[in-house]
Amino acid sequence: MFIETTSRRTLLKQIGRTVSAITLPISSQELIKFNSMHDNSQFEVIIIGGSYAGLSAAMTLGRSLKKVLVIDSGKPCNRFTPHAHNFITQDGKKPAEISALARQQVAQYDTVSFHNDLATQGAKTEYGFEIQTNLGQTFTAQKLLFATGIKDILPDIDGFTECWGKTVIHCPYCHGYEVRGRKTGIFVNDESAVDFYKIISNWTDSIIILTNGKATFDQAELQEREILVMENTVTYLEHEEGSLKKIVLDSGQTHALDALYFRPPFVQHCAIPQQLGCTINESGHIEVDDFQKTSLPGVFAAGDCTTPFRSLAIASAQGNKAAAMLNHELIMGEHA
Ligand SMILES: Cc1cc2nc3c(=O)[nH]c(=O)nc-3n(C[C@H](O)[C@H](O)[C@H](O)COP(=O)(O)OP(=O)(O)OC[C@H]3O[C@@H](n4cnc5c(N)ncnc54)[C@H](O)[C@@H]3O)c2cc1C
Repeated sequence: MFIETTSRRTLLKQIGRTVSAITLPISSQELIKFNSMHDNSQFEVIIIGGSYAGLSAAMTLGRSLKKVLVIDSGKPCNRFTPHAHNFITQDGKKPAEISALARQQVAQYDTVSFHNDLATQGAKTEYGFEIQTNLGQTFTAQKLLFATGIKDILPDIDGFTECWGKTVIHCPYCHGYEVRGRKTGIFVNDESAVDFYKIISNWTDSIIILTNGKATFDQAELQEREILVMENTVTYLEHEEGSLKKIVLDSGQTHALDALYFRPPFVQHCAIPQQLGCTINESGHIEVDDFQKTSLPGVFAAGDCTTPFRSLAIASAQGNKAAAMLNHELIMGEHA
């Protein structure tokens, strides 16, 4: 590659080559490294999503002296829950406190920059990738990491959103202990209902199943265990500031409940991986290998956008692993 620009001359001086050799070749790696160190729109890695997976990756890359940009739109999926659990050293803390501390610790590494914005477009370029944002900024990097999470889709039932993350919960490992022994419903209408019931019965033996319409699965096993399956449509959830009191059915019946489990359907929070051509698997997650590499060379993904195992610990661990592999690729090349 032959480039004759001011930055090329500066680069030649810095890497000790003679400026008079006007057509001296510069490798694309040298140019990218130089540019990324001297231009605040060029990076070695752009991390899209600055929550648990993204910040964990940013810490590892910052500690590896890599020039990194974290673009984050500030909407982690757990923002509705007052307290996060089952994350060692942080059990019971507010999610925002945990991520604020994480960001403060990452910000101490001066090769890591932050940009609070929504990444809207992504494109492959000759030397890596270009990302555009909602505020009109354009950034480039050799590698990308998507730590963008998912968006849960809640049913359009009054009270559901208000209770989500408080008493309408998705995961017994996150919140089951807090509602152990309490009157519990499971909002489900597919073949997973029986297994879902068995798992939740570890925490409480007061369980009903709400199918919100005619049940579409075999109820024999639940009937044998004398578990009540209510097939009426749920009209609304009665609650006090997100604390569930009862569910009200279209028949007018009510049923007192303290907690309701629901595994929501979801969409990817960010459409750029699909735009770029990353494979999305059958469950709707970005397909990654054991090293968090997507199907597209140079693009990695970590956290909820890649796995149904949703937890702060798993998202952080995946971010940590993706970053080590990114650093490895930046040093050794893609096929090492
Ligand atoms: C209600 C609820 C309660 C939970 N409680 C617990 C708990 O108690 N304990 C536990 O271990 N786990 C809990 N979880 C699971 C846990 O919150 C997730 O596993 C974890 O947040 C995943 O981290 P992540 O970084 O992958 O994604 P997220 O935390 O969802 O973060 C994704 C980030 O990417 C950003 N983003 C997305 N698209 C873009 C874009 N285009 N441009 C810029 N930024 C973008 C978002 O704004 C967000 O900040 C809970 C989940 C929910 C939904």
